[in-house]
Amino acid sequence: MTTVTDWLEQGYPHSWLPYTQMQIADMPLPVTHAEGVTLHLEDGRSLIDGISSWWSVCHGYQHPHLIEAIQKQAEKVTHIMFAGLANEPAYRLAKRLADLTSGELNRVFFSDSGSVAVEVAMKMAVQYWKNKGQTRRTKLISFRNGYHGDTMGAMSVGDPDGWTQQTFSGFCPRQYVLDIPQDEYSLAEFHDIMASGLHETAAAVIIEPLVQGAGGIKFHSADMLAEIYRTAKENDILFIADEIATGMGRTGSMFACEEAGIVPDIMCLGKGLSGGMLPLAATIATEAIYAEFQDDTLGKAFLHGPTYMGNPLACAAANASLDLFENEPRLEQVEAIEQQLYDGLSGLAHHPRVKQVRVKGAIAAVQLHDASWDEMFAFRRQFIELGVWLRPFSDVIYMMPSFTIQPDELQQLMAAVKKVLGEA
Ligand SMILES: *Cc1c(COP(=O)(O)O)cnc(C)c1O
Repeated sequence: MTTVTDWLEQGYPHSWLPYTQMQIADMPLPVTHAEGVTLHLEDGRSLIDGISSWWSVCHGYQHPHLIEAIQKQAEKVTHIMFAGLANEPAYRLAKRLADLTSGELNRVFFSDSGSVAVEVAMKMAVQYWKNKGQTRRTKLISFRNGYHGDTMGAMSVGDPDGWTQQTFSGFCPRQYVLDIPQDEYSLAEFHDIMASGLHETAAAVIIEPLVQGAGGIKFHSADMLAEIYRTAKENDILFIADEIATGMGRTGSMFACEEAGIVPDIMCLGKGLSGGMLPLAATIATEAIYAEFQDDTLGKAFLHGPTYMGNPLACAAANASLDLFENEPRLEQVEAIEQQLYDGLSGLAHHPRVKQVRVKGAIAAVQLHDASWDEMFAFRRQFIELGVWLRPFSDVIYMMPSFTIQPDELQQLMAAVKKVLGEA
């Protein structure tokens, strides 16, 4: 007898899942449809999504304005190459992103995933110096607990103690990995290291501004971010802000760099850029970076070009997503979420299992004392039983919901977290 999930039963033995030990993994849950923050499962159950599908679905699932924009574009053209041919959604989006970002961040290079947007940023920084005749500047300065994606260059700037970096050491280029300064003392140390001649071989600093995401949901202050930026500038080193997780409102401002009053040389966007509808990322450079690629020969042209660059469907979704940021009160919603998370979770700081509770914008992390992966997997199963979709990892139970989540839905997520931790 065929069951309704025959596609899963038949396809699963041929599928390979991300960051998953397939031999011990639970079967993924068949989702038939989703709306708002609710995932509807094949068996009739539903789950409140507390992590907006890897932090991308910022307006909730199936927002009618996004669906309509994609449908309208699908009737015209779903894809054309970006070299030599122009599609309206991509050019409209480039102009809107240039207007939306601060200062001279005016040149947009599209790609289809965050990792590629990071590779593009790193290549831009390196080629910028090459074009200026400084050919030794091929290294990046990155930070412990950072995460910038899964491709080779992006991995190389991730946390050196991370699982992937350990596995692929020897394969990835070696970079300069520093600690994010947290106080006066470590800041002075950071100043010294940055001034110790790194600019001879380093092209750029790359950082996730304010919140390091997949490396453990760790925060630093806007003041410290501004200091890191100033130190890079003082030492003639470029500054790349990887806003793939933090950008598009997640931390409470449109871009996290705004909170520190800084304008990076290069900014990466992804995740929420298309409202979580289609794969899309962007690397945005300032006029000054762009200027070094100008020449009357091909020699200095930027050498990168993804097949699906500037995909019209994805760009149409991103334009519609920007409409929603303009026409619906997204940042106010993020502020309300932050307040509710803070009020609801602060008390957990006294729980014997909890090391720290962190809240910023629509992000909450409950970090535990000595948690094991086995326990995290057990929590994941319990969350499903409690009707919520949360995926704790490493030592954190975290939430990054859609900005349209309702207070009662957020309440259910927080209640589930308290429930799995147990009364203390
Ligand atoms: C998710 C993420 C990436 C990688 O994006 P992908 O689309 O998964 O390739 C890069 N940087 C940061 C900060 C991210 O959160």
